[in-house]
Amino acid sequence: MKMKELKILYLYPDILELYGDYGNIQVLRYRLEQRGFQAIIEPYSIGDTPPDFKSYDLIFAGGGADQEQGILAQDLIQYKDAIQEAIKNGVFFLLICGAYQLFGQYYKGVEGEKIPGLEIFDYYTEAISDRKKRCIGNIIIEVNLNGKMTKVIGFENHGGQTFNSNTPFGTVLSGNGNKFGDTQEGFFLNNVIATYLHGPLLAKNPELSDYIIQYCLNRKYQENITLAPLNDDFENKCRQQLL
Ligand code: GLN
Repeated sequence: MKMKELKILYLYPDILELYGDYGNIQVLRYRLEQRGFQAIIEPYSIGDTPPDFKSYDLIFAGGGADQEQGILAQDLIQYKDAIQEAIKNGVFFLLICGAYQLFGQYYKGVEGEKIPGLEIFDYYTEAISDRKKRCIGNIIIEVNLNGKMTKVIGFENHGGQTFNSNTPFGTVLSGNGNKFGDTQEGFFLNNVIATYLHGPLLAKNPELSDYIIQYCLNRKYQENITLAPLNDDFENKCRQQLL
């Protein structure tokens, strides 16, 4: 019997990679392979053959500084329709920080320069004009995953202040979130999680990793797949320490 697999598209790995974002891909691979699933990970960056977005189960993009966002924005925007179609089809999107911002209306940088977004979602981001003022540090948010309240831990470092995220990812317990001193963090709508949490996010949050994996497997195979529990003692010790 053919091994069950998830196909993951990793967008702009050479441009969007901050504070261990690539770790998210490694964690997905690890948690899939430990359960006997195959992880097929395909990178896409500027100049590569255009990806067939809807053929993937999961699409991931990490964070990047303003300059990097400016470099790839136009390239990304050419795929707006294909990305929208993939979202509509239920492909899961995990977007961190810079990528989170790029799926909104726009990102306005420190000097007032505007980087266009994909305009798929209503939120927009504006950097604080004082370059030294940034939301930096560890962050804990409370997230509702299938009705279960879960503490999600990460690290944030952004000057951008995101407004108008009507369906936030979580409630801030410690840290800043979408804006300085905000009560809300990120954006979460059905099959899209967009968040400021680096970390890498999935290494610090095994429950969230399995939530995403479970969603993707259920959608793809339309059968009740039970994820075998993994030994997360080390991850949980790390979590306790951080909490
Ligand atoms: N350039 C964005 C900001 O500073 C994103 C930074 C990031 O991805 N960490 O707001």
